[in-house]
Amino acid sequence: MMSSVPICNICLTDNITKSASVWCSECEETMCNDCERQHGRMSLSKNHKTIPIKDYQKLPSSVAAIKQKCVRHSLRFDFYCVIHNEPFCVSCVAEKHGTCQKLKPLSEVVGGVKSSAAFTDLEDRAKDISTLIGDLITEKQNNRTSFGVQKNEIISEVQNVRAAINDHLIKLETDLLDKFDNMEKKQNENIDNVIEKLSEMRKKVENICGDLEKTKQHPSNFQAFFGIYELNKKIEIAEKCWMSLQTDQTMNTFNIHIEFSPILMKFEKDIKELGKLEVKSSSSK
Ligand SMILES: [Zn+2]
Ligand SMILES: [Zn+2]
Ligand SMILES: [Zn+2]
Ligand SMILES: [Zn+2]
Repeated sequence: MMSSVPICNICLTDNITKSASVWCSECEETMCNDCERQHGRMSLSKNHKTIPIKDYQKLPSSVAAIKQKCVRHSLRFDFYCVIHNEPFCVSCVAEKHGTCQKLKPLSEVVGGVKSSAAFTDLEDRAKDISTLIGDLITEKQNNRTSFGVQKNEIISEVQNVRAAINDHLIKLETDLLDKFDNMEKKQNENIDNVIEKLSEMRKKVENICGDLEKTKQHPSNFQAFFGIYELNKKIEIAEKCWMSLQTDQTMNTFNIHIEFSPILMKFEKDIKELGKLEVKSSSSK
């Protein structure tokens, strides 16, 4: 399409610059208002149909560029040669198409072209391909917006996975604390048994201490002398008992430790990402 403001071709031959208002496709000239008036009065051109220059400018450049006059002879194309598939002027006949069999009047060939099946078919095909391309654009735009949806889906999937892992860890933590409580209970029972046993032993030794004290206060040395013998045997038993406790496992101190599952210790090192993101293409057909 032409973009600059066209000037009158006819005035231009007299070196006058005037802006054009119409286009005559038969003269292939732009014309100002004055030239158009003259053009309409002259017998040669009074039947020419002119179009407003604005409409002419809207014509596709490929159509506007099609010459309607023979370049060699500057005459109107009046004929059409089917063999050469081209229009030609009356002077061209002898030069080029003298032996051509299928010459037709141009008006017969081009008449009614705009309502012809070929033109309608071309229009339909142009509309069809435009629709198809439009569909592709829509598809691409949908593809573009689909990423937002996909992102939200992935975010929620990641959160589900994370929540499931967290729930599992909470369950494992609860299980572990239950096990600790059971272990602690068992250990406390053991310790209570040991304390009970030791308390009994201490009670016996305290009785011996009491007996010794009472014997000390007793006036009779005779009784004290022989009483000591019996008490000595009791003390020996208590001492042996204590000695045997030195190698008794139940006298050990017990502590509850935790050794974590190896996978948990390697969690950060081994698990570098939640998953692999990748672009997958699929045919839209
Ligand atoms: Zn003019
Ligand atoms: Zn004209
Ligand atoms: Zn010619
Ligand atoms: Zn020909």
